[in-house]
Amino acid sequence: MSPARLTVLGATGSIGLSTLDVVSRHPGRWQVHALSAHTDVAGMLELCRKHRPKQAVMADEAAAQRLHEGLRAEGLEIEVGAGAQALQAIASDPAVDIVMAAIVGAAGLLPTLAAARAGKRVLLANKEALVMAGELFMRTVAEHQAELLPIDSEHNAIFQCMPPDFAQGLERAGVERILLTASGGPFRERDPATLASVTPDEACAHPNWDMGRKISVDSATMMNKGLEVIEACWLFHTDADRIDVVIHPQSVIHSLVAYVDGSVLAQLGNPDMRTPIAHALAWPQRVRSGVAALDLFAVGRLDFERPDLQRFPCLRLAFEAARAGGAASTVLNAANEVAVDAFLDGRIRFTDIPRLIEHGLEQVPASRVDDLETILAIDQEARARARSWIRQHRGDAA
Ligand code: NAD
Ligand code: MG
Repeated sequence: MSPARLTVLGATGSIGLSTLDVVSRHPGRWQVHALSAHTDVAGMLELCRKHRPKQAVMADEAAAQRLHEGLRAEGLEIEVGAGAQALQAIASDPAVDIVMAAIVGAAGLLPTLAAARAGKRVLLANKEALVMAGELFMRTVAEHQAELLPIDSEHNAIFQCMPPDFAQGLERAGVERILLTASGGPFRERDPATLASVTPDEACAHPNWDMGRKISVDSATMMNKGLEVIEACWLFHTDADRIDVVIHPQSVIHSLVAYVDGSVLAQLGNPDMRTPIAHALAWPQRVRSGVAALDLFAVGRLDFERPDLQRFPCLRLAFEAARAGGAASTVLNAANEVAVDAFLDGRIRFTDIPRLIEHGLEQVPASRVDDLETILAIDQEARARARSWIRQHRGDAA
């Protein structure tokens, strides 16, 4: 069998590197066709040396120029591309079978959609794309017979616990509820009165997972779980009322599916993204991922708690957006991205993140969000509104 050809979007990030780690454990099974990154030229050069892709794309033009020079200096013949068009081209290239969508944030939407439109096997890590444009994305997947496999550990777990015919509707498939687990992040037990002064490094110090900075802050506010509720609604054709968030601090159970007969199926494993990545790459087969076997005796116990929506207003806001439907999730995602960026830059406080998102959700346009133009316009509008809020409230952070 010839190797399946793979594009990794966001190759220099946490998910991108874990993907390439799994791939390199199985020589001859997958061939790295194209890699992308934003500005990290040194990281991309190293990946090019190791994986020898046919193409390497930098979203940033100046970075692409530097990569080109670096590759030439080393005598590596790899085609270099730059910018949004080149990203879409490596996602939809007829030579490619599988696309790992691991760019962070809305920047991943267009290439991920391009992969779906080209009918690829799409491994979806970039949850923001689905939150921002769920209806359009799912329709594109269906129309072009793309194969959508979730990488987010919870959704990958749910997928593994679902019956094969879940796409016909959860009711028909005998599924009663989806139980989405959450670690609770670094601030699960911290005194809420001290949250206003937490630093970006404290927010990024996740107890169980090593991830990029944006998703780490999302985990600290629990917006990550909110985005995941919306993601689950689209992936599993359901609404938010069928989903329960369960705090499970050990992060060993990655989510559960409850059936009408009283059965509850769970997927367990060490918290390491190489498990869901290997699952989706090889599906329906199984391959080694490099993750150690789960030692239940070392884990000892599994705890569960209800989430505290007072402590984590972002989770409440995401549930509200999911229930409101329409453009609310697009606005939620845009406001959150601007807020997290501003928090990481020290322009707003941690506790301003939900305030800023709540402000955004006060003005959700009534339009349907099933075409790209409308989605991008709503996204831009929500970002502008969020930036203007930050300018007005900047003094508060001092
Ligand atoms: P990361 O910050 O480590 O990596 C992001 C990647 O995207 C990098 O390769 C970067 O170069 C690229 N990128 C960033 N901005 C870009 C832009 N404007 N244009 C083009 N490329 C850009 O992030 P990550 O932790 O790997 O997360 C990636 C995605 O996977 C996110 O959507 C995240 O929510 C999701 N996810 C991550 C984890 C995890 O464990 N890290 C788990 C579940 C889901
Ligand atoms: Mg997750």
